[in-house]
Amino acid sequence: MKTKEDLRRLLLSIDHKGYLAYKETKGKWSWGNYVLSIDHVQGDPFATPSGVSVIVPGKTAGFPEAYVKEDHRRIALQDHLLRLFGEKLVQRERSYAGSGKSGLVTTSRPGQEVLERTACRIEPADGQVTLRFQVGFPANGRTINARELLRILEEQLPETVEKTLMRQNLNQKALEGVIDLADDRKYIRSQLEERGLCAFIADGSILPRKSGVSSLPMQNAVPFKSPESMAVIMELPHHGSLRGMGIRKGITLIVGGGYHGKSTLLQALEMGVYDHIKGDGREYVITDPQAVKIRAEDGRSIVGTDISVFIQDLPNGKDTVRFTTEDASGSTSQAANVVEAMEAGCSLLLIDEDTSATNFMVRDSLMASVVSPDKEPITPFVSRIRDLYETSGVSTILVAGSSGAFFHEADTVILMDRYIPCDITGKAKAAAALEGDGLRKTIPEGRKYHGISQNRIPEADRALLREQRIKLKTLSDDSFLIAHNEVDLRGLEQIADREQTAALAYMLKYMQLHLLDGKTSLPQAARKMLALTNRQGLEILFEGSAPGNGLAQVRLAELCGMLNRFRNLRIK
Ligand code: ADP
Ligand code: MG
Repeated sequence: MKTKEDLRRLLLSIDHKGYLAYKETKGKWSWGNYVLSIDHVQGDPFATPSGVSVIVPGKTAGFPEAYVKEDHRRIALQDHLLRLFGEKLVQRERSYAGSGKSGLVTTSRPGQEVLERTACRIEPADGQVTLRFQVGFPANGRTINARELLRILEEQLPETVEKTLMRQNLNQKALEGVIDLADDRKYIRSQLEERGLCAFIADGSILPRKSGVSSLPMQNAVPFKSPESMAVIMELPHHGSLRGMGIRKGITLIVGGGYHGKSTLLQALEMGVYDHIKGDGREYVITDPQAVKIRAEDGRSIVGTDISVFIQDLPNGKDTVRFTTEDASGSTSQAANVVEAMEAGCSLLLIDEDTSATNFMVRDSLMASVVSPDKEPITPFVSRIRDLYETSGVSTILVAGSSGAFFHEADTVILMDRYIPCDITGKAKAAAALEGDGLRKTIPEGRKYHGISQNRIPEADRALLREQRIKLKTLSDDSFLIAHNEVDLRGLEQIADREQTAALAYMLKYMQLHLLDGKTSLPQAARKMLALTNRQGLEILFEGSAPGNGLAQVRLAELCGMLNRFRNLRIK
């Protein structure tokens, strides 16, 4: 392998030359302790910065096998190293006025969630650490400023690598804390299943966030505290005994006056499918990993989804067994969201009345007595919620501040009172009993629940495959372009960040090229995609250098959710 001296010689020989001469630096350079890999060289100072990575051999990085072999620890460690590396990079400043982004060094800056990211990858087999980042190769005008690049590569980078990627130089206590937290969370997740719970929220958790645009914890928030009747104690391997609220499988309502913290609790549960870093306040808010937030999503496209358990006999005679539309209504979109979530193996629905279509959720008895059920296409969610659990094993946690209709069906009713939960199940059930029967009797004979089964077989989009090169572009945290089609993911509220959105874009392309073969069902194809990336790394999704700040792994729910929102989805 060529060495750092070779790169130095090369750089000095192209100093002050035209920018394109930088292209010669592409390749791997031995840098003593580690390897510097220049994966992609930008074409001009204003283009996307160049992709660079450092590869530290397992022996040099020095993380023991026990830290890297199991996924939960490895991912937590990767996340920790990436944050350390990123912080140190940011401390450095550009000391000269370069053109474009020249001289700037950036890498992934993860939010509060701990995810598998291409920005930092540790090989489970040998502990080799790869850290990927971007460098705006320095220029004066459009000519090469090689000395400045050498300053970054020879002075700043080695120190950063030493201080942040090598075990012996890290704060050992912080490092152990990261590994311990990962173990403790894994333990809670395993206990959920064992104890018949779908979520756990530790006492002392801080659920609200700083603001609508910041996912940092709110200062001086009221800490969470479980009511006695719902309290469970977890004996964590490292942290020890931890008390918190256990939400049982089944149907749970969250009620309470406006502004008492209902939606905040639900949002914490939504993100509880992911792990959170220390100091987040939600370290021990753990939700069933198959939980899916369901909302109304007017305007989304639907391709061949069987929404007939909720909607039947439309006045225009439209088929609801294979329901297709370019522009769904509130109720049809929410129905499709439930069915598609279940198709992808969802076991817990999270629903907030604030973002639901009222006519999808409930129909009061007065309305039912005036409009006979066989004239009403919608079988409301309240009439199915019990069946979904009893027959299909899908639990629901529902925020319902304004309708008592769900009291009849609920197993547990939690009242949020000034941000503190109280168990009012007994009281709510008694009140419901006084009101008489629930709404279930209003379901006509032909609309009995028989479970949800659909088997949609997607095919690749031929128009897309005809493109010379399928271009991808991440537009925002929740939308991307593939070729010229925008895919809008705003309805998928559990997407943690832009790197997940980028991963979804790359997966769509990969699946179009390799997995949508007209024989494999949609969730099966998605499972294959995830299995491939989990086994071989997300790196299989791109060639050479990682796009932008890289990709982050997604869940099956979001992958299927994305496919379902691709407007050119072809179903056989
Ligand atoms: P609801 O859905 O019941 O109307 P929200 O969950 O939207 O209420 O919360 C209302 C406000 O209270 C929000 O601004 C939220 O940030 C804040 N909040 C929520 N939980 C807490 C808490 N534990 N401590 C302090 N403020 C909170
Ligand atoms: Mg609310």
